[in-house]
Amino acid sequence: MTESPARGHDFAVDYAEEDMGRASAPFTQWSAPDGHGVVVEGDCPRCHGRTRTEYRHGVPGTGTKGLRSWLTGRHPVPAEDAHALLDEVHFCECGHPHPNLPPDAPFTGCGASWRVRALVPGEAA
Ligand SMILES: [Zn+2]
Ligand SMILES: [Zn+2]
Repeated sequence: MTESPARGHDFAVDYAEEDMGRASAPFTQWSAPDGHGVVVEGDCPRCHGRTRTEYRHGVPGTGTKGLRSWLTGRHPVPAEDAHALLDEVHFCECGHPHPNLPPDAPFTGCGASWRVRALVPGEAA
């Protein structure tokens, strides 16, 4: 992992569905290990937890969870996908059940959503 240990995950942040707008920090993207999608990882702009979301190849914008079951051939991630990911709304999936997390919450995190400003190519840690 290349993340800075100086920035801590704030476990005390209450769960709230909050639109953070454009995240200022760049997010890292790389091809999913099975070659069928792209993984986007970065720090949640709200709770600063490490959040990672996998998008199935070629279909950003059709609902994050549904993408996971979408399988296609083995292709490199085209530039259009990276572009689409900048318009995709990302949700906090830091994995920490923040206070007041509703039982039906779609993601385990702080409830924040945002769009990324920039994606930098990276490799899975
Ligand atoms: Zn968060
Ligand atoms: Zn968190």
